[in-house]
Amino acid sequence: MFRKILIANRGEIALRIIWACKELGIRTVAVHSDVDADSLHVRFADENICIGPAPSRLSYLNITNLISAAEISNADAIHPGYGFLSESPDFARVCEACNITFIGPSAETIALMGNKSEAKRTMRAAGVPTIPGSDGPVPDPDEAKRLAAEFGYPVILKASAGGGGKGMRVLRSESEMEMAFQMASAEAASAFSNGDLYLEKYLESPRHIELQVLGDKHGNVIHLNERECSIQRRHQKLIEESPSPALSELLRKEMGEVAVKGSEAVKYATAGTIEFLFEDGRFYFMEMNTRIQVEHPVTENVCNVDLVKAQIMAAAGEKMTWRQKDIKIFGHSMECRVNAEDPLRFTPSPGRITTFHAPGGPGVRVDTAAYAGYFVSPHYDSLIAKLIVRGPTRADCIMRMKRALESFIVEGIKTNIPMHLKIMDDEDFKAGNLSTRFMDRYLSENNAG
Ligand code: ADP
Repeated sequence: MFRKILIANRGEIALRIIWACKELGIRTVAVHSDVDADSLHVRFADENICIGPAPSRLSYLNITNLISAAEISNADAIHPGYGFLSESPDFARVCEACNITFIGPSAETIALMGNKSEAKRTMRAAGVPTIPGSDGPVPDPDEAKRLAAEFGYPVILKASAGGGGKGMRVLRSESEMEMAFQMASAEAASAFSNGDLYLEKYLESPRHIELQVLGDKHGNVIHLNERECSIQRRHQKLIEESPSPALSELLRKEMGEVAVKGSEAVKYATAGTIEFLFEDGRFYFMEMNTRIQVEHPVTENVCNVDLVKAQIMAAAGEKMTWRQKDIKIFGHSMECRVNAEDPLRFTPSPGRITTFHAPGGPGVRVDTAAYAGYFVSPHYDSLIAKLIVRGPTRADCIMRMKRALESFIVEGIKTNIPMHLKIMDDEDFKAGNLSTRFMDRYLSENNAG
């Protein structure tokens, strides 16, 4: 097992990793930018090192400074969390070269899954159903038109190197192709330094359902059931839950088996997520995330597994103690992402938090690095807390989430808590009638956008 882990991240996920390390008896090193000196991850880690100024590219994305910090502190592993360098093959490669264990997959696996058109091709070859579309990148608008005519409009152009919904364009007719292709390609080139696009059939009203997988270095791979993340705005998840109200036992088993098969095809040996779109009873691979996800706590709640500890133990070469048959679903769990933003206009609301009272009581978990007096910096993402509840049934979770949201008091900045409260009262939400278009309807009814 590792003696000391450096955490190349900040905020709630850095704290989450510190908790896991403490329970495993591993020392921790926090890194921080100068504006994060008063952050809780700095306070609770055993050691801390400043790695640069506020802009991420000079601190949390600065590979040279991170590796120097690991060497100075004599850390034997680095946990990248999510975001920042968590899916950077370069970072994983540099760690490997410096004999520091990167807690995640190999650089090759990250690179393969990070190229979304290649990932799709690999999964298709492994027998995982994929959305009908191009086999790899599309060279030009003419080829895109030919393919779109073959699959039928609407279609979606997506960036091969994509992430965060950037470089995506939905097209309803051929006349839009020329312009959309140029714009999506330019957007992808500027965001990811790679303008490659691929094309797939656009599903009108799918659900986003993803499978949590876990592997070890001894060739074992299991899945920990699904999370439904259909409540999204601009492809950013807002509410996640497990299990999905849409899946039968049979489909759950089928999706789980497919996710394991896909993971085995890339010799997956850590925690990861296979994302699917689900429509009309059928599911299609969309992408694989080779890191811990923001929404991992809902799976921890229903499967009784500590995913961050499991990820650290797998990286240390330990053999998984679970077999697939040990993984069951206990009740239901739901997560709301509490963001520092205007609840209707979604504009960021950075600033100093003056009052912060997090809810508690039975079945409530709050993963946060915020506190009264904490300054929400405009330099980083707006997630300030994850409110996670568990209960025997989905209906119990909704009631519990409501009472928890009502007693979640954050003053000094705006948050999206009022939006979450409204969603908990929405008839479609309560009935489990979800789709990735849910928020479009919600926002048009609430005169916002
Ligand atoms: P990113 O990596 O940029 O987040 P994804 O491929 O994960 O991109 O897609 C993000 C979201 O975009 C999905 O959750 C879904 O809402 C939507 N989406 C992507 N592909 C399609 C498609 N073929 N049809 C319908 N919606 C899609």
